[in-house]
Order: sequence, then structure tokens, then C-alpha cells
Amino acid sequence: MLSTSEFDRTPSLPLALSRQQITYHLDSIWQGYFSDIPRLNTVDIAYSQPWKRRLGLIRLSLDSSKSFIGINALLQLQEVPDYVLYTTIAHELTHYAHGFGSPLPRIFEHPHANNIVQRELVRRGLGELARRCDDWIDKQWFSFYDMQREAGWVGITHTSRSAYHHK
Ligand SMILES: [Zn+2]
Repeated sequence: MLSTSEFDRTPSLPLALSRQQITYHLDSIWQGYFSDIPRLNTVDIAYSQPWKRRLGLIRLSLDSSKSFIGINALLQLQEVPDYVLYTTIAHELTHYAHGFGSPLPRIFEHPHANNIVQRELVRRGLGELARRCDDWIDKQWFSFYDMQREAGWVGITHTSRSAYHHK
């Protein structure tokens, strides 16, 4: 299982900065749980918008040379538990593995049919993490979201996706 010790490899960095090392977290989850999935193109990850009803997304560039994983900008805030960020990255990696937002062959018709993401996470040993994530989202997300919106999105940054042209 991933634990907070994953963050402890860079103890000299403030925790807020560690949350910003999102590329590191992507690589760490890929190596730890998706090492059988080939990285066939350039995969970039960045915090995107503070969406209300979306934690993340994955898109493939028109020429298939790049995949982009966008993570809800609010997930960089420490009030959101680590397992929510981890699960969200793993969720998007599952789509990549299934051929959605990636050059890999598409092995299902729809990215969320029949709980395929949940089943994949369980199969890869991430079921408990995903369960805790779902629980936190169910109980905390909307009040947390409203609070951040009322505060004027203090403390969040997001990366422009203008370099990407997606369908
Ligand atoms: Zn999804």
C-alpha cells in the first residue's frame, strides 16, 4: 500500500511543496502499481481547474504523442487527504491502461462501464485507498468545495492546458 512514507523521501521540502511534486507522485504510482503498463507516449500531469464534479481527467493529443492528466486544482490543498490525490492519479492511470486517453488498445467500450475502474484498482491492491477516497468525497467534498469557493480559491494554482489540443 502507498502510505505517507511515500512523501517522506524529500523531508527537507515543505509539505505544500511536496504536494506540488505531482509528476513524482505519478511516476511513483506508475512504478508501484502499474509497472506492467507500458508508457508509449509522453504523459504529462498538472493541476487543472477546481472542478465541482470532477477529480481528474485524461486526454490524448490528436497525434497520440502526448497524454495529459489534469487533476482538480483543489487536490493540491493539504486539507484534502493524500489518498484522494493518489486514488485520483491511479484512476486516470487505469483509464490509460484501458486505452482511454492513451495510445494503448482500447479494451472496453466505455471508460466507466461495469465498475471497471474500481475493479482494476482493487485488483492492483488499491481498493482500500479507493474506498477511503470515496468515503471522504461522499462526506466532505461539497462542503469543502463551497468553503474554498467562498474563500476565493486561496492557495490554488493551475497550469494552462493551452499547449494541448484535444478532442
Ligand atoms: Zn474516470
